[in-house]
Amino acid sequence: SPVDLNDLVSAVVDSMDLQLKKKDADVTLSLAANTAVIMGDELHLSNVIYNLIDNANKYSVNSPRISISTKNTAKQITLTITDEGIGLTKDQTKRIFDQFYRVPTGNLHDVKGFGLGLNYVQDIVGKMGGSIKVQSEKDKGTTFEITLPFKHSN
Ligand code: ATP
Ligand code: MG
Repeated sequence: SPVDLNDLVSAVVDSMDLQLKKKDADVTLSLAANTAVIMGDELHLSNVIYNLIDNANKYSVNSPRISISTKNTAKQITLTITDEGIGLTKDQTKRIFDQFYRVPTGNLHDVKGFGLGLNYVQDIVGKMGGSIKVQSEKDKGTTFEITLPFKHSN
């Protein structure tokens, strides 16, 4: 069914108000797409958005700065989520989509998780005919970019 990705991003951010406030997160939204309506499963898509924002918030020391933007061409829409958190080494970045993979968080202790979120995100994005890219630098931050086609077969 048709889902407006901009509306969904706003709704997910709103629903995360408590956990974002707990860490004093600063979320910047730039939803610049003129057409953000894609065919997809609303529940799965909001879970995808949730997982990426949850990670950006969890894997930052305090007062996380998180930027979320959407951008579209005629054929596809791109959702970008950037944090300035603890980041990852090249070797760690290669493994984060693996089921149960978690990086020892060192001084950022007690970060809970199962190592399942990104595996799920990659699976859903793939099923929608999209792709996910990650760019990360240790101690600098991480960017996830999801591209979804407006039209696909399922
Ligand atoms: P959950 O299943 O609850 O999401 P999780 O957050 O540990 O648990 P993933 O979301 O799959 O699992 O992430 C896997 C690992 O990748 C994390 O444990 C963390 O080490 C690393 N990671 C994910 N997102 C980020 C990020 N934005 N910045 C730094 N490290 C990250
Ligand atoms: Mg996670």
